[in-house]
Amino acid sequence: MSILSYKLDDLKDALSKEGYKAFSTSQIFEWIYKKRVFTFDEMTNLSKDLRNFLNKNYSLSSLKLKKIEVSKDKETKKYLFELEDGYFIEAVLILSDERKTICVSSQVGCKVKCTFCASGKKGFFRNLLSFEIIEQILGVANNINENLTHVVFMGMGEPLLNLEEVIKAIEIISDDKYLKISQRRITVSTSGILENIEKLKERDLKVNLALSLHAPTDEIRKKIMPYVKKYKLKDLIASLKGYGFHTKRDISFEYILIKDINDSIECAKKLHLLLKDIQCSINLIPYNEIDDLGYKRPDNNKIFEFKSFLLSRKMNVSQRYTKGKDIAASCGQLAIKQRL
Ligand code: SAH
Ligand code: SF4
Repeated sequence: MSILSYKLDDLKDALSKEGYKAFSTSQIFEWIYKKRVFTFDEMTNLSKDLRNFLNKNYSLSSLKLKKIEVSKDKETKKYLFELEDGYFIEAVLILSDERKTICVSSQVGCKVKCTFCASGKKGFFRNLLSFEIIEQILGVANNINENLTHVVFMGMGEPLLNLEEVIKAIEIISDDKYLKISQRRITVSTSGILENIEKLKERDLKVNLALSLHAPTDEIRKKIMPYVKKYKLKDLIASLKGYGFHTKRDISFEYILIKDINDSIECAKKLHLLLKDIQCSINLIPYNEIDDLGYKRPDNNKIFEFKSFLLSRKMNVSQRYTKGKDIAASCGQLAIKQRL
């Protein structure tokens, strides 16, 4: 069992049953989350007996870091990890100003299979366990020897289809005594699994939620995101509003601009009508082209026109400048590699 799947109190309970002091658990958490060691033997202030017990009963690191690629501008690094059962996942570190953001994967592959995305191309293999999500963060922090400031669930997989493990990982990484990545600095991006947005609302989490909207109408959306066609935009938006009310934060929408699919001024007008009465931010993402999928990025003029229209209507719009394109580390470019 990985020790990373334990919250502090749960580990305290487990160890106290074996006769170890509560204080040891705090020491173990310090070693893991503050000093970032990867073996129990390095935890030198624990008794030899406890270290032996931990070695026998728990594991601490299960991901193997196989490769790191660094973008030309050095601001993006892509990490390839091998899981214990031979699957590969990727995490991406994005450095900008004071922010050190990690984009984590939540599943191997993705069931949702949006027609524009590389992650779903080969289908779905399995959910990640909470400790495999946490290890991506620890592995990357260890590599740069610094703590990370922000976490986005925008790597491979649909986080809301792996809800329990994602929530558990969030609860552990946001613990204010250890990794201290506050929930306000954690963003979960979702294709919009309505019933699980509702479930997330029932839990006492304050993470940001971003909806991958990508279309101003149900008709266009169902063509590019067929798996989620049963969820209507008006219902998704109502559910998100409820979530935003609960977290007291604006809701955010991601909108990939894909040539001739959703990039016309007509679409911009419809998008404005859809969102004009909602306090929200819209993040425009020029499409990252993926081999074989056939979609294209609009030219810069078209992107500019789309954005300008929304700005002229006083919408809160930003454009995501693609980072790490040269190492295929941008949104939607993370693809599952086959087992070795
Ligand atoms: N499954 C979740 C989170 C992972 S995808 C979701 O879909 O929201 C993270 C973001 O990358 C999503 O907004 C997704 O739509 C976007 N994306 C996928 N493929 C892309 C591509 N080829 N170019 C640009 N963005 C892409
Ligand atoms: Fe899955 Fe998100 Fe890619 Fe859609 S965009 S296939 S939901 S990872």
